[in-house]
Amino acid sequence: MANNYDVIIIGSGPGGYIAAIRSAQLGLKTAIVEREHLAGICSNWGCIPTKALLRSAEIFHYAEHAKNYGLKIEGSVTADLKAIVSRSRGIAERMNGGVGFLMKKNKVDVIWGEAKLTKPGEIVVSKTTKKPVEPQAPLPKNALGEGTYTAKHIIIATGARPRALPGIEPDGKLIWTYFEAMKPEEMPKSLLVMGSGAIGIEFASFYRTMGVDVTVVEVMSQVMPVEDTEIANFARKQFEKQGMKIILDAKVTKVEKSANSITAHVEKKDGKVEQITADRMVSAVGVQGNIENIGLEALGIKTDRGCIVIDGYGKTNVPGVYAIGDVAGPPMLAHKAEHEAVICVEKIAGLPNVHPMDKAKIPGCTYCNPQVASVGLTEAKAKAEGYDIRVGRFPFVANGKAIALGEDQGMVKTIFDKKTGQLLGAHLVGAEVTELIQGFVIAMNLETTEEELMHTIFPHPTISETMKESVLDAYGRVLNA
Ligand SMILES: Cc1cc2nc3c(=O)[nH]c(=O)nc-3n(C[C@H](O)[C@H](O)[C@H](O)COP(=O)(O)OP(=O)(O)OC[C@H]3O[C@@H](n4cnc5c(N)ncnc54)[C@H](O)[C@@H]3O)c2cc1C
Repeated sequence: MANNYDVIIIGSGPGGYIAAIRSAQLGLKTAIVEREHLAGICSNWGCIPTKALLRSAEIFHYAEHAKNYGLKIEGSVTADLKAIVSRSRGIAERMNGGVGFLMKKNKVDVIWGEAKLTKPGEIVVSKTTKKPVEPQAPLPKNALGEGTYTAKHIIIATGARPRALPGIEPDGKLIWTYFEAMKPEEMPKSLLVMGSGAIGIEFASFYRTMGVDVTVVEVMSQVMPVEDTEIANFARKQFEKQGMKIILDAKVTKVEKSANSITAHVEKKDGKVEQITADRMVSAVGVQGNIENIGLEALGIKTDRGCIVIDGYGKTNVPGVYAIGDVAGPPMLAHKAEHEAVICVEKIAGLPNVHPMDKAKIPGCTYCNPQVASVGLTEAKAKAEGYDIRVGRFPFVANGKAIALGEDQGMVKTIFDKKTGQLLGAHLVGAEVTELIQGFVIAMNLETTEEELMHTIFPHPTISETMKESVLDAYGRVLNA
C-alpha cells in the first residue's frame, strides 16, 4: 500500500528529521509530516537564527571596540537592522532547504499538512491551519498531502511553543514572543525581558549589544536559574557592566499598554512594586509542549505537565506510539531531541545495545556575551545529592590566549567527587565556552577520572587550557594562577 510505512514521524524539527534519517538508514520505509516549516523551531525560529543575530551583534561590538585591537574605523559603525534580520532569515531558509534535501537524499517521504493520530498505527493528515514560514526553500517536488496514512510505528515530534502568563499574554506588537523578537521591524529604544533563561538572556544580550536599553526581570534569585550560581553571578556582573539592568527575585504582575510602549508592574521580594516603562517587552517564561489536537486523548496517551510521558527509549504507554524532543519533556534542547530520536529509532529497529537516554550528561549552552556552558551537577546540586566534593576554578585572566584575544573575562569551574575522582559537573563562562564544553561532555561519558584529565595534553595557546587548569586547581596543582 502506497500510504503504508514502517515509521511515520509527526514534526520535522531536530527530533523528527533526525529520526527520519536514522530510520531510513536502517532500511525502514519512512515518512515525515510537517505543517509549517521543515527543520522545526530550531532552524527557523530558535537555535540557528538567534545565533545569526548574535553574530551580527558580536561583530558590531568588535567594530565598536576596534581601537582596542589597534584598528581605526573612520566614522561611526552603524547597524542596518533590516539587513541583520534578512541575513538571519536567509540562514533559516537555507536550513529548512537543507532538511528538504536530506529527506530526498534519504528517500524519506515528506507529507505536508497537519497530522492527527486516529488509532494506533494510523494518522490523518489534513490541510494545515498554519501559514508556512517565510522564507521557505521549495518543498521536495514529490511531497505528499492530505489523506490517511498507516505505519507500524508512529513517532510524535511536534515540539513546543511559547508559554504565556495569564494576563500578560504576548500580542505580537508590544509584548513579543521569540517570533517577533527574532525579526523586529524597528529597533526599540528600550526593552523589558521577562525571564532570564537561555532564550530571554540571549535576546537581552543581542538587543543590549545593539544599543537598546535592556531591563531583565527574573523571578529567581539568579540569572539563568538552571546554571551554577557562581557562574550565573559572574555572567550577571558582565551583563551589568555592559549596561543591562537586571532585577532578581521579582515578578511582572501586570502590564499596562499605551500606543507604543508598555508599563510593567514589577513586584519585588519585599512586596514593593516598581513600574518600568519600555517600548517593547519580550515574554520569555518558557515553552510548552504541542500536545493539543494530535489525538492523544482518543488513544489514551499519558501526559504530565503538558508533555508526553515516555520511557528512556521514547515509548509512550500505547504500543507503537513514541514521542521525542520538546513534546516529550525537558530539557528542551535540540541536541536532546536529536539524541532521543536516534535512541528511539534504533530501539524500534531492534538494534542491540541501545542505551536509554541519560539526562545527567546533556550539556546546556547559552550564547549570550559572555557565553555560558555547562554539563552535569552544579555545586549546590552535588552537595544536595550528598557528594563530598572538590571544586576547581580557573580564571580567563590567567590564560594567554584569552588575553591575546582581548577576552579575559571568564572562568571554568569543575566539580569532582572527592571519594572517586569522578567528574560530576563542569561550568564555564566566557568567550567560546559553548565550543569548549564538549571536552568535558566526552570526559563524563567516558567516565574519565581527574587523573586522566590531568594527564591529557591540551594545545597551547588555547582557551581550552583553562579546562585543564581548573581540574589541576581542584587537586591543589594549578600551574598558571
Ligand atoms: C529562540 C530560541 C532559541 C533556541 N536556541 C537553542 C539553542 O541554542 N540550542 C538548543 O539546543 N536549543 C535551542 N532552542 C530549543 C530548540 O529549538 C528546541 O529544543 C528544538 O527545536 C526541539 O526540537 P523538536 O524536534 O522537539 O521540535 P520543533 O523543532 O519544535 O519541531 C516540531 C515540528 O513539528 C511540527 N508540528 C507540530 N504539530 C504538528 C502536526 N500536528 N502535524 C504536523 N507537524 C506538526 C511543527 O511545525 C514543527 O516544525 C531554542 C529555542 C528557541 C525558541
